[in-house]
Amino acid sequence: MLYEKLSALIAGENTKIELLNLIKITTKVHPFSVEIINDTLSFIPIMIDYHSFESLILLDLAQLIANDDIHKLRRCTNPECVLLFVDRTGRRKWCSMKICGNRHKVEAFAKRKKQAPNEEI
Ligand SMILES: [Zn+2]
Repeated sequence: MLYEKLSALIAGENTKIELLNLIKITTKVHPFSVEIINDTLSFIPIMIDYHSFESLILLDLAQLIANDDIHKLRRCTNPECVLLFVDRTGRRKWCSMKICGNRHKVEAFAKRKKQAPNEEI
């Protein structure tokens, strides 16, 4: 449900109200405690399970909405990848340069090498 709402948001639909309702309901059922760890305010789920993990993601999402940064949410350019990320620079294409970005570079290099096997690339 969350992924579908975020995908719709990236596609241009206004799902902010639905997302805020989801955040409100989920974080009420799976609340946090608060601790200062390494001089940083950290939210610690009361229970450790899948829903607690989801509520941490929703907390980050709530901060994106509150800071009006939700429009920076992007889908990874790799069509086989399902990951979403926050593009803070406006130039990022991949969820991770080490995974999808590097895979793209390797494929592009192999393609160029195949087209011109005797040339220096
Ligand atoms: Zn990716």
